Amino acid sequence: SEEFYINSEKLSIIGKLAASIAHEIRNPLTTIKGFMKLQQEGMISDLDIYSIIDSEIDRIETIASELLILGKPVSQKLVAADVGKYLKDVCIVMQSQANLDNVSINFEAAKQALYCHCNEQQLKQVFMNIIKNAIESLDNHGYVTVSTDRTDKSVYIKIADNGEGIPDEVKEKLGQPFYTTKEKGTGLGLMACYKIIEQHNGKIDFTSEVGKGTVFSIELPLIKERKQGDGSPVS
Ligand code: ADP
Ligand code: MG
Repeated sequence: SEEFYINSEKLSIIGKLAASIAHEIRNPLTTIKGFMKLQQEGMISDLDIYSIIDSEIDRIETIASELLILGKPVSQKLVAADVGKYLKDVCIVMQSQANLDNVSINFEAAKQALYCHCNEQQLKQVFMNIIKNAIESLDNHGYVTVSTDRTDKSVYIKIADNGEGIPDEVKEKLGQPFYTTKEKGTGLGLMACYKIIEQHNGKIDFTSEVGKGTVFSIELPLIKERKQGDGSPVS
């Protein structure tokens, strides 16, 4: 029956995901085991083995926490809020990380309030993931520009970088679980972004040119003006 096919398709997606998770966790474990053996044979020092174990455990931890974000259901309780404020908060936090990479984040504050139905934590996670990718594409020089726009129906958030850009063969694979081109990447960040934005009834698009940079654009439904808790009208 039709239902059988639907179920088996779902199962195969879960099966694939489970297989890739197992693989991703096994990699660092294999590394740890291999180096422990070398250490027992006196090939490497105690100090080396500690630092290898430490960084491989970090890797498993990163994967686990990104999977937890993915697995978390988006709260049904979306609240009306100015998404421009969230974006600003995230830019301030991310600037401190960007400083270490010699990158500056240009935040162009919105002239108007950008009211959407939001889950604060999850939208901030989306902005953080995309800005982080932009910073990582820059290789210690360049800029990230964060700007917003608004029509009658939608809010647009643009995150642009002048980094390495995305080749065509990579473009097709973005958003697939564990697809990464980075040595220390997890390939889970964009997947979480797509999921969260979809559950906010929004869309994510990007354009990119190798050697020139990338622009990620998020569209969210704008909601009508309403009174806030402080009683002042917002537009
Ligand atoms: P990760 O950052 O762990 O690799 P993501 O899901 O966040 O995982 O991103 C997947 C891949 O998408 C990255 O490895 C990179 O190849 C590509 N990518 C995403 N954003 C950008 C960007 N702004 N510039 C260049 N490549 C990008
Ligand atoms: Mg990322």
